[in-house]
Parts: sequence; C-alpha cells; structure tokens
Amino acid sequence: MGTKGREIVGMQLSELITLLNKALSDEWLAYYQYWIGAKVAQGPMRGQVVAELEEHAADELKHAEMLTDRIIQLGGTPVLTPEDWYKLTNCGYDAPEDPNVKVLLEQNIKGEQCAIEVYQKMLEAIKDKDLVTSKIILEILEDEVEHEEDLQAIVEDMNLMAKNK
Ligand code: FE
Ligand code: FE
Ligand code: MG
Repeated sequence: MGTKGREIVGMQLSELITLLNKALSDEWLAYYQYWIGAKVAQGPMRGQVVAELEEHAADELKHAEMLTDRIIQLGGTPVLTPEDWYKLTNCGYDAPEDPNVKVLLEQNIKGEQCAIEVYQKMLEAIKDKDLVTSKIILEILEDEVEHEEDLQAIVEDMNLMAKNK
C-alpha cells in the first residue's frame, strides 16, 4: 500500500496487524476444522451436513485470503507458520474426535459464535480508525452470522425429524 494509504489509518499499524493476524489464525483453524469435519462426518443427513461444512470451509479460506491481503497492504507480515496459529488464535480449535454430525455441528456453531464476537469487537475497535479494514471485517462478520444461522437451521431440522418419528 502506498504511504498515504497507510497514513489514513488512525491507529498503530502494528496493533492493527496483530488483530488481523489473530483473526487470520482463527480462519485457518476454522478452515481445517470444517474441512476435516466434512471428511469424517457420520450420521443422519450426512450429505446435507457435508455440503454445508465444505461450503463453510471454502468461505473460511476466502476470509484467510482477505485478511492476508490486507495485512500485506498495510506493510505487515502475515503469520508464516502454522505453529503460530495456536499462539495467536482467539477461538481455538475443536478436533472432530466424535464424527457424529450433531457433535460436529455443535462444535462448529460454537466456533462461529466465537468468530461473531471477535469480529464484532474488532469492528467496534477500528470503525472510526480504519474504514478500509472495517469494510473487510464487516464482510467477514456477515458471513459468520450466516454460517451460524445455516448450522443452527440444520440442527433444528434434525431435532424436528427426531420428534416426528
Ligand atoms: Fe471466517
Ligand atoms: Fe464461519
Ligand atoms: Mg452456509
């Protein structure tokens, strides 16, 4: 990014880049949790669940890319090694040790709820200081809200199916 582009950021660049790298670490862990979850999933409505998990994995990867591009634009260095994902993550990683679709969905719902909180807080912290990054974060936040909704809708359908048996 050019000098003027950096100058208009009304906060410490290093502070902003750290926030973005923490989010980037979350996105990679979320990506893998969805991706591997889709591979091992077992149980009712598996096809639908797997399709949703795969779709969300692709979205998390896209988020990782958006964050990385912005970090580089700001003159920062994106996280260069997976070991740092664990050091920087806000939301952690839930291994899909139980492949039951319902357990996977609950784990991923928890992850989305954490992501929503993280991005909401980040947006509040930067909205008056960096409009360009705010727009990116808002776009990601919109996706995470949709992710939570999609997963909860599947759980609701499963519960209804179980009731109507
Ligand atoms: Fe994401
Ligand atoms: Fe998500
Ligand atoms: Mg979806």
